[in-house]
Amino acid sequence: MVRLLLAAIFVTLVGLPLTGARAWERPKVIDFHAHLDPSAGARIKGILDRSGIELIVNLSGGSFPWEWKEAQALSTELGGRVINFYTPDWDEIDDPAWGLAEAFRLDAAVKRFGFAGLKIAKALGLYVRDAAQVLVDVDDPRLDPLWAKAGELGVPVCIHVGDPKAFWRPSTPDNERYEELQVHPRWSFYGEPVPSQEALLDQLARVVARHPLTTFVAVHFGNDPEDPGYVERMLERFPNYFIDVAARVPEIGRHDPARMRALFTRFQDRILFATDLGVGRYGIMLGSTGTDAPTDDDAARFYATHWRYFETHDRQFEHPTPIQGKWKIDAVGLPPEVLDKIYRKNALKLLRRGPA
Ligand SMILES: [Zn+2]
Repeated sequence: MVRLLLAAIFVTLVGLPLTGARAWERPKVIDFHAHLDPSAGARIKGILDRSGIELIVNLSGGSFPWEWKEAQALSTELGGRVINFYTPDWDEIDDPAWGLAEAFRLDAAVKRFGFAGLKIAKALGLYVRDAAQVLVDVDDPRLDPLWAKAGELGVPVCIHVGDPKAFWRPSTPDNERYEELQVHPRWSFYGEPVPSQEALLDQLARVVARHPLTTFVAVHFGNDPEDPGYVERMLERFPNYFIDVAARVPEIGRHDPARMRALFTRFQDRILFATDLGVGRYGIMLGSTGTDAPTDDDAARFYATHWRYFETHDRQFEHPTPIQGKWKIDAVGLPPEVLDKIYRKNALKLLRRGPA
């Protein structure tokens, strides 16, 4: 009797062996996609500590040495938990030496300031124009030296190309991202002289094909969370193609969870946990911004909703970024070994840190 009672207490306390729940514990997570202001160190640390984020990739490391210095100081302030990525400067793109100069700067940021990658914003393909006012394509040959340099250095290229499909459609109340477009009217491409989303993604595919020795991380779920079939085809075609899930759990949570679980399981070695957390001088951004400034409690909830999506089998709950659309999402409940890779091990491999 006493032994039974002790066993019952043990099971209640430990909770796992008899209930069938798994003994897996979430590892220290790496968030592979954030935008961090060097002046916000204390707030960033608080957010990371509270949600169990061990390392975070700051994709806004800057283009110039004075910015690299600040980004490096932020990393030092947080005991190396912030990993910075270089961002090119497009101003001199008409200079015939631009590509080589950019490659040289990336090299310096990596070797002298501890940077660990290159970030390309969606401006490429959508906003960056040369002196003749022609949009610079994602696969413009002027960028080849930069892609090659990333490969030579062994650092990944996080690349944002295009945007949600809804941004190409009229900003009318039936647009599924109407609210977000109301707050950010300039995000709409409807009627603008820009390429279609398909054309932009084709440009990206040509770059990935042309630089097989460079690792590309197509952010925001391969830049096409509405079409997992496209993302799967890219992952099948190119071994040097990875994706992150930043700010797109709302989108991918709409698809059939069994189908998404199959995708995550099949490509478990090339998918990275990421959120698009932004911490600035004046406020924070949780995947997108609305009219109200989010609090640190909101940031904790934001991460918790991600854990819920990846770890449980819950159905029809509110997604992490309500302004990105009014629908509910279904969780994928990934197995522990897949979660360990997506949360941590794949990132360690790309950042060349420790055994994975
Ligand atoms: Zn971002």
